[in-house]
Amino acid sequence: MTEKLNLVARELAKLGLTAVYPREWRRSVVLEGEVDTWQQYIAAGYAAAGKGYKGVVNAIKVRGLEQSREYLPPAQGGALEGKDYDVVIIGGGVIGCAVARDLTRWDLRVALLEKEDDVAKQTSSRNNGMIHPGIAASSGSKKLAYNIRGNRMYTQAAEELGFELVRCGSVVMLGKSMYQLALPYVRYKALQKGVDGLIPLSRRQVARREPNATSLQRGGIFLPSTGVVAPYKVTVAYAENAVENGAAVHLNTAALGFAMEQGRIIGVRTNQGLIRAGAVVNAAGVWADKIAAYADDHFFTIHGRKGTIAIIDKALGATQKSVLALPRLGVKSYTKGGGLNPTVEGNLLMGPTAIEVSQREDWSTTPEEMEFLFSRHLSLNRQLRPRDTITYFAGVRACTFEEDFIIEPSEHVPNLIHAVGIQSPGLASAPAIAQDVAAMAVEILKTTREVKPNPTFNPERRLTPQLAKLSLEERGEAIKKNPAYGQIVCRCEAISAGEIIDAIHSPVPATSLDAVKRRARAGMGRCQGGFCTPAILEILARETGKAASEINKGRPGSQLLAGETKTGGGTRT
Ligand SMILES: Cc1cc2nc3c(=O)[nH]c(=O)nc-3n(C[C@H](O)[C@H](O)[C@H](O)COP(=O)(O)OP(=O)(O)OC[C@H]3O[C@@H](n4cnc5c(N)ncnc54)[C@H](O)[C@@H]3O)c2cc1C
Repeated sequence: MTEKLNLVARELAKLGLTAVYPREWRRSVVLEGEVDTWQQYIAAGYAAAGKGYKGVVNAIKVRGLEQSREYLPPAQGGALEGKDYDVVIIGGGVIGCAVARDLTRWDLRVALLEKEDDVAKQTSSRNNGMIHPGIAASSGSKKLAYNIRGNRMYTQAAEELGFELVRCGSVVMLGKSMYQLALPYVRYKALQKGVDGLIPLSRRQVARREPNATSLQRGGIFLPSTGVVAPYKVTVAYAENAVENGAAVHLNTAALGFAMEQGRIIGVRTNQGLIRAGAVVNAAGVWADKIAAYADDHFFTIHGRKGTIAIIDKALGATQKSVLALPRLGVKSYTKGGGLNPTVEGNLLMGPTAIEVSQREDWSTTPEEMEFLFSRHLSLNRQLRPRDTITYFAGVRACTFEEDFIIEPSEHVPNLIHAVGIQSPGLASAPAIAQDVAAMAVEILKTTREVKPNPTFNPERRLTPQLAKLSLEERGEAIKKNPAYGQIVCRCEAISAGEIIDAIHSPVPATSLDAVKRRARAGMGRCQGGFCTPAILEILARETGKAASEINKGRPGSQLLAGETKTGGGTRT
């Protein structure tokens, strides 16, 4: 047994996990055996991390626990059989979509495969939308390097792609005992990490900047580079600009395996046939280890850490300008701890929580988690009450046991690149990750052919009107050109039929209620679609040529209507 493996064995023994057996595989450590609980599975993974291995592969079985269920779209014949691309990206989250867009800077045939019916369906729409300043990432980590670079790149990305970025800044408040002790250390760390701008604030200065901030604060720091975006809109914007520049986005298309020849991937097996690929990018979020295993390159394991977030009514949006957080000393955590942050739409978000979950697509929310959020974060802003919550949602972070991003070409498969383990601050880091991953793919292709820039690449996305953001005169002009902009469908958010129609006919077409929501925001207001859903259904049906009963919320089977009533032929409800 090597010294490293001994170290892992000793850590496991300390935890009393006597039925877990570590072994070395390539440069990683593999854990096998059985445990009784998911907590033990997680503890074993962390016990093996940080011992000098490239990755931890946690293959331990948990007695009586079923494996994580994965949604896969139905088989759809061979519609994509024989398609041939230079680069195939697996995963339509913010990482995959940003990589696709960056690759269209080159004269390449690029395709993105997404198993869901839309991009930004998993973690990339289920987060706080914060462009973190970088202060929370550990020194020397990939998270830190990509966060700092990504944060700076967001200004240009927002301008080019036309999504909203608000640099609202964040106030990290310090409690009584912390202020004197923590401030010099925080300043030193921020400087060392390269965090842009840090302004120390006295208690009075915090109160002046944020009059509703908790009375527990004894001062804090202001980080002006913190921003907020609508994460699903960022993802859609990247995907749309990729398509405008020639990339193909194949929705409802799951990667199910690879065709390999002499150690290289020659094609991706999907539910729509075998797609040929010169290079492959693994950006599959919580399922990225499964994709790596298809290529026999399974050197890490992803485990899901769920975060629940509450959405606070817009009516309270003006009570807070910046992100507010009050970190706790001495609490060991793999996440940043959450807080209250504004959104570009004017709501506030509270959270997230952090709970290890065995089901990677477990987006359920529980009363206990809401109680936890209220007890932890509500008092950060003295104007907030639990009843100000309009809804809540959860996302699952794709964590490795090393707790860092893995962004690199495979060591064993010459034309595979991993962009995995992208938990927070993955959104903030996306532009920088995409730049590097695209460059890696180009380097791979250059070993066998010439790769030229795309002479027609246009970094600017075509934009359609957003009525609520226009002046009265501008609205009048838009309505003159297209009367559908004058027909308000979602009254809470003032979204017109024209904007919904634009979303349905956009470069990555919205074909479900949730996809319309992600692009046009219809149904995202106080009533949560209570009034406008029937009208949106009707527009979707008309524009896509389907029956209203065929339109669903997202995944197959989530149709809202069972059939027609009072026609004699439909289902009675
Ligand atoms: C609660 C919460 C709050 C967060 N807050 C922030 C924040 O404020 N700021 C920040 O920077 N980061 C935040 N993050 C992290 C951020 O959301 C993620 O880092 C980022 O969204 C990851 O993007 P991704 O593209 O890697 O993954 P995803 O968005 O999950 O995309 C992966 C995609 O791959 C698809 N896929 C998987 N398997 C297959 C297959 N076999 N075939 C085809 N497609 C497949 C999935 O359907 C999915 O759409 C938060 C995360 C959570 C959970």
